[in-house]
Amino acid sequence: MAEPWQQLSERVWLVPGAVNSAVVHGPDGAVVVDTGAHEDAGKRILRGLRERGWPLAAIVVSHAHADHFGGNAAILRRERVEVLAPPVEAELMRAPVLEPHYLFHGAVPPPELTGRWLQAEPSPVDRVIDAGRLSLAGLEFQLVDVSGHSHRQLALAVDDVFLAADGVFGPAVIERYPMLFTHDARAQRLSAERVVEAAQEYGARLVVPGHGEPAPAEDLARATIDAIDRVRAAVTAAADGVLGAVVLARVARALAITMSDLPRYHLNHTTVMAYLSGLRADGAVRAEIEEGELRWYAT
Ligand SMILES: [Zn+2]
Repeated sequence: MAEPWQQLSERVWLVPGAVNSAVVHGPDGAVVVDTGAHEDAGKRILRGLRERGWPLAAIVVSHAHADHFGGNAAILRRERVEVLAPPVEAELMRAPVLEPHYLFHGAVPPPELTGRWLQAEPSPVDRVIDAGRLSLAGLEFQLVDVSGHSHRQLALAVDDVFLAADGVFGPAVIERYPMLFTHDARAQRLSAERVVEAAQEYGARLVVPGHGEPAPAEDLARATIDAIDRVRAAVTAAADGVLGAVVLARVARALAITMSDLPRYHLNHTTVMAYLSGLRADGAVRAEIEEGELRWYAT
């Protein structure tokens, strides 16, 4: 059976899945944006290209989370095309062992954190890209900085479609995961606003989130910003002189989040630390070390 891709514009195709990838078919071949969570996802993208007779020209990776570039290695073993990625993200792709390490406070992580969900196969990066115009395979992309969810994430505008990566999330995804992963909660909120501005600036009719259904920019940004504000309020309310781990437990209870495995626990723990860090920079919480305990206080 043919790979079920969904055409979004003249040249942009959505490869739907738990993680959305996209294929942009230009005059000089196809550009794949994000390759999915693992080897199978990469192989399926290649199969879809072959069914259509489109040569693969390049892979662009929005950010270095394993579920967005996990298909790279499988594709590159078969077709060694150019790989483009943002700065910092490029380093993480070359050394993906760093993702479980940073989620585990920089220490050697337990094996539960080194599965393919959090640690992809390494990928080369041939060209480091940043915000601005990108010409590739006869196509013109506009790259937009949507850092926050990860260190230096980029979104892409092409035709009248905006590939937002994890700059915004679909409402159904947020309902399932009320605490969206973030590296920098303040930057993440600004990025969701930037998605709306960029969609307007580049005439994007449809925004494709990294997870969830394509939708108008305002709808995805509203849902994402509301989720960020709910978590920020819950973190602030929980910070009455307790440890970061207690803030996490209280926020999880307040938002009805169950954490029954180490990966989910540590993703949420890092996220809560990103909020505490941002709130402290804003002067809304302070950190005190008391008798060897790092306690967080809302001010
Ligand atoms: Zn991500």
